[in-house]
Amino acid sequence: MLLIGLDDTDSREGKCTTYLAYRIVDFLLSFSDVRVLDYPLLIRLNPNIPWKTRGNGAICIKAQVNNESTLTHIKRSIVNMVIEESCINSGANPGLVFYDVNHQNHELIEFSKDALCKVLSKKRALYLAEKYGIECYTFGNGQGIVGALAAVGTSMYIDSSDHTYEIIAYRMPENYGKPRLVDEQSVIAMDKSTTPYTFNNYDYKHRRMLITPHGPDPVLCGIRGEDPYILIKALKMLDIKEDMQGYIIFKSNQGTNAHLESVIDFNNLKAYTSGHLIGKVASEPKVIEGGHTFFELEPCTHTNASIRVLCAVYEPTGLSAVAQMLTRGDMLEVGGGIRKGTSKNPKVVNIEYIKVLNLAKRYIYMNPLCICGKRLKSEGKGKGYGCEYCGYRSKELSKIAVEVPRSIMLGLYLPDPKAHRHLTKPLQRYNPSIKKSNLKFDPNIEWFYKFNLAISKGVK
Ligand code: ATP
Repeated sequence: MLLIGLDDTDSREGKCTTYLAYRIVDFLLSFSDVRVLDYPLLIRLNPNIPWKTRGNGAICIKAQVNNESTLTHIKRSIVNMVIEESCINSGANPGLVFYDVNHQNHELIEFSKDALCKVLSKKRALYLAEKYGIECYTFGNGQGIVGALAAVGTSMYIDSSDHTYEIIAYRMPENYGKPRLVDEQSVIAMDKSTTPYTFNNYDYKHRRMLITPHGPDPVLCGIRGEDPYILIKALKMLDIKEDMQGYIIFKSNQGTNAHLESVIDFNNLKAYTSGHLIGKVASEPKVIEGGHTFFELEPCTHTNASIRVLCAVYEPTGLSAVAQMLTRGDMLEVGGGIRKGTSKNPKVVNIEYIKVLNLAKRYIYMNPLCICGKRLKSEGKGKGYGCEYCGYRSKELSKIAVEVPRSIMLGLYLPDPKAHRHLTKPLQRYNPSIKKSNLKFDPNIEWFYKFNLAISKGVK
């Protein structure tokens, strides 16, 4: 089995690694002695890596090549495709790997799990590649090797962990950079008839389509969901008023929160890492200009209670209002990424979800009630209380604590869909009753489709 890993081929100026994957799959499918063994894998890695272009995506394609000379030809052609189709001179640093393997590689799996939440070095990737005889090609500064290898490692365990699918349709080159002609009402109709088997199609609060990107890249739209069959139907439900090159279905870790599984250590916040932590709110939330809210979190155990981490909830997430309802003593699980500290500001956990585990009681302190039932008035500091109505006086009484109902409830609070990262697990995916049909790769369904045959003929 040949695993082909690929990353960092695009730049902000255009192109797209998924599109290159589409072209490579198209190329592979044209050989009678090559079988593509699974939906290609589109993984998202640590979203807090500062040098990512957009969504920190990487690709792995699984194929079986039954002929040595075809294998040599295929590898050479793919290397050329990467050279020709990448933005090497404008910021891309492609990495391409070929790994001929029929078993799991646990060190590679560990590497790919680390790539979800840590910052990994190129050196570690190259060391692994050499150790396991993985054929590597790097261009530019070669950083793409990290994502390419992580994609290959992920392909070895994704079937046994939570995963989703995405169908991505590609535009005709003459339309790149122009507004995408996908009818909004048809997106809403598709969303309503395919939910909960598709997700993040439309943000109803902000009346915004989420399936269409906004850049000059070749992606027309992408629909994410639980089941490849439903995704094909969903794409066909859209009213698209421009020609498409074709589409492809990817298997993915998008929408799974895979980057937040690891535990962030209160004592050792590492810049650009991702994960979650459980703690108690240690300071009252503060709102700053722009509507962003900050609060401190401390560990629940007394031994470490003096350590506090600052949490930031930014206004565009829609979670800032939730954070403002928190109070000291609330117990939370929060997920997020660590923003680098500066000489003026400490490291901060940028919050991606808040799970309220326990609510502290909140009190206001009021004057006591009189024996006649009216509220007593203070007679001055240390002078006790008196009743204006019946004349009762007491020096012994003191203020009484009255519990105030909390305006926030226990439970999970997620950002608005428009603020979701690719890996953010949407609310509907927490519902255990979503049943997946038999999702074994079925080469006979239309998981890859090309409308305009002329386009990729030149590739070979
Ligand atoms: P797009 O989503 O448009 O494909 P991108 O956001 O994936 O773009 P890339 O251009 O692929 O951005 O850049 C991400 C770079 O970061 C790649 O070189 C990748 O190898 C590297 N990278 C990914 N994860 C890590 C990590 N955990 N540690 C270090 N480098 C990483």
